[in-house]
Amino acid sequence: MTNSVEYKFTKDLYDAKASFVTNLECSITGKDDYKAGEIHGLSEAGRPLLVRYDLDAIKNSVTKEEIEARPGGFWKYRELLPVNTGDAVTSLGEVMTPLIPLKASVPDGYDIIVKDEGRLPTGSFKARGLGMAVAMAKELGQTHLAMPTNGNAGAALAAYASYAGLKTTVFCPDDTPIVNIREIELQGADVYTVNGLINDCGKIVFEGKEEMGWADISTLKEPYRIEGKKTMGLELAEQLGWEMPDVIFYPTGGGTGLIGMWKAFDEMEKLGWIGSKRPKMVAVQAEGCAPIVKAYDDGEEHAPLWDDAFTEAWGIRVPVAVGDFLILRAVRESGGFAIAVKEDHIFDCRDRVAKQDGVLLCPEGAATFAAWEMALESGQVSKDDKVILFNCATGLKYPMPETDQFLDKNEPIDYGQFK
Ligand SMILES: *Cc1c(COP(=O)(O)O)cnc(C)c1O
Repeated sequence: MTNSVEYKFTKDLYDAKASFVTNLECSITGKDDYKAGEIHGLSEAGRPLLVRYDLDAIKNSVTKEEIEARPGGFWKYRELLPVNTGDAVTSLGEVMTPLIPLKASVPDGYDIIVKDEGRLPTGSFKARGLGMAVAMAKELGQTHLAMPTNGNAGAALAAYASYAGLKTTVFCPDDTPIVNIREIELQGADVYTVNGLINDCGKIVFEGKEEMGWADISTLKEPYRIEGKKTMGLELAEQLGWEMPDVIFYPTGGGTGLIGMWKAFDEMEKLGWIGSKRPKMVAVQAEGCAPIVKAYDDGEEHAPLWDDAFTEAWGIRVPVAVGDFLILRAVRESGGFAIAVKEDHIFDCRDRVAKQDGVLLCPEGAATFAAWEMALESGQVSKDDKVILFNCATGLKYPMPETDQFLDKNEPIDYGQFK
């Protein structure tokens, strides 16, 4: 199907029926009188708002078989998404991201599958959340969006907002990989580096938003990025024949994806699309920045700021998360766990999986592989488990090991060396 046909299909799908959103609900107090169709940030309690749908009406409106028959990427889950009209849909050619079973890099008989999110526009799963957030901002009449980012979120925001004709201002830590800063700029945002971490950048957005009239698109500070990210759960269920895997390893920064998938599983069960089985949700962090793992180990419901956060898996260098309790709840309810991996182990896994299987994971994705290895050794997962590892971005955006094999074309060549 050509892109233009697919685009028309998506637009028609959204124009054919209005969204099924009923209201929004505070994720910590349960206060549920936040109205659809209005601009929202955090709840009055300062926590994320969750979008609620009329699931009975959705049940009468569509079947999972009809959804399966639709072409395209995450926009196909129309009934479970908040956008109202086709005009707001902002699509840069999303695809259903592939599931790739690992072969040589795992022992025989193991069922370890990579969901490769690097195939999405701007090369990361941030396209899901930001595609949705931008569409909703457009629908709600917001014109100038701002956000802090470690790189990928800013790139996705810039691309989708430019396509939607909206303005963006983006702040990132000054050690963010240069490729990210440049792609954000090149895709139409006004980008600044800041001598601080992502939470320092977030503070700048927070303090400037009143004066500038910015829509704050920070992780979980508007309600719609979760809705985009939850499509990972919908897509995974569809791809696995509406059966849940046993374990999902998720590289956890702000946790949008983990929280979103957990929400999607609940919605799908209520719709009768899946049963009550849930995968164990595993929150993976790096040892140099593991606030969620520490809170999990300490039995806490919230995760305090992590000092001197360090990891070159930039997407999970998030020292504090406003949705901490939602991540921890999902992990615990699922019977999963939180696990921190060593920096060296991340890059060792990245290199091994790429060399042996030709699958180039980003460091955050490699962290999930490292976590699986650790969990296997400790007995937290077993050989019989069907395991999903999230490769959340293309490995191509990250620095790679040097190579130095040179051949002088003017000298005699010893072909024996190529054995
Ligand atoms: C944003 C990001 C993450 C973390 O995702 P959350 O859902 O916010 O926890 C992990 N890896 C990469 C590459 C990212 O860009």
